Amino acid sequence: MTIDGSYGEGGGQILRTALTLSLLTQKPFRLINIRAGRPKPGLRPQHLACVKAAARLGKAEVSGAERGSMDLLFVPGRLRPGAYTFDIGTAGATGLLFQTLYLLLAIAGGGRLILRGGTHVPMSPCFHYLAEVFLPVLSAMGFSARLEIRRYGFYPVGGGEILAEIGPLETLSGIRLEPPFSPEATSVLSVVTSDLPDHIRRRQAQRAEKLLREAGLACEVRLESVKSASPGTFVGVWGQDEIKRIGYFALGARGKPAERVAEEAVRPYLETMRARASVDEYLADQILLPAALAEGQTFYVTPKITRHLLTNAWVISHFLPEAKIEIRGQEGRTGEVI
Ligand code: ATP
Repeated sequence: MTIDGSYGEGGGQILRTALTLSLLTQKPFRLINIRAGRPKPGLRPQHLACVKAAARLGKAEVSGAERGSMDLLFVPGRLRPGAYTFDIGTAGATGLLFQTLYLLLAIAGGGRLILRGGTHVPMSPCFHYLAEVFLPVLSAMGFSARLEIRRYGFYPVGGGEILAEIGPLETLSGIRLEPPFSPEATSVLSVVTSDLPDHIRRRQAQRAEKLLREAGLACEVRLESVKSASPGTFVGVWGQDEIKRIGYFALGARGKPAERVAEEAVRPYLETMRARASVDEYLADQILLPAALAEGQTFYVTPKITRHLLTNAWVISHFLPEAKIEIRGQEGRTGEVI
């Protein structure tokens, strides 16, 4: 099967979804035009790490696994449970590597992953998103794991490390996440590396708390100072309503006021609630794959039908033609996924 990597969103997600599903369905694939539309096209270190790690877990034969490669051939073998360590070698996202591998290891009978690279880097689920949003929802679908952050890794150096202890997967069940999302509690986490001034962490937290209280939401605020090879800061805001979770994280940057970091996390959180969604737009594309493999129906409302979501559905349909994924609504608008 040949998949065109420039389709739709044309990003790294096409590759990661194909790797996971190739090993689970035992269907080989060739991916062409990998990330063709991106400024630095082809396989970047984070994507290459996903290819190599998936190949090791599933004894795959691979050609074209080189930096910058735009053409990859992947022939899956048998999955092996066990303990694995993978180092991306840059600040590439450990969260995306985790999402490529977690189902493989769970379905193979469980195991342990030590992943090194970025833990809180742009355009990816950060460690706390995995732990506080993604994992609880996956747990409700039958997946079990324990996640731990051992070292923080920010851009550009990375050097972070996460540990995942993954249990064997018995049954994966579909999940119904019905709106509205009325959080029992909203958590705020303000983190700053210890080499940066302490007032940043307080200002981030105060702004987030103020915005949430103005919106009538009770919140619990946690401040942390952490060690890391590169300076970094972030604000995370997440809520829980029974089995539903919604979370947004924003990263600090040189010249960006601490208050703005807080606003970038809180605003989309409030907007998602106002849109009467039951997940955030990131979880919407991330749970599509497990939902397509699960027994029974899944239902959720995303605040925005993203091109990521549509593209992921397109890749999944190559490997699982029998999975019925229905996305109701228009791109860019609130929509239902069934
Ligand atoms: P490329 O560099 O080609 O764009 P990539 O490998 O960085 O690709 P994408 O294809 O852009 O990856 O996929 C990024 C994934 O990260 C998506 O699943 C998206 O939901 C997730 N993601 C991005 N930002 C966040 C965020 N703030 N919180 C949670 N998840 C996020």
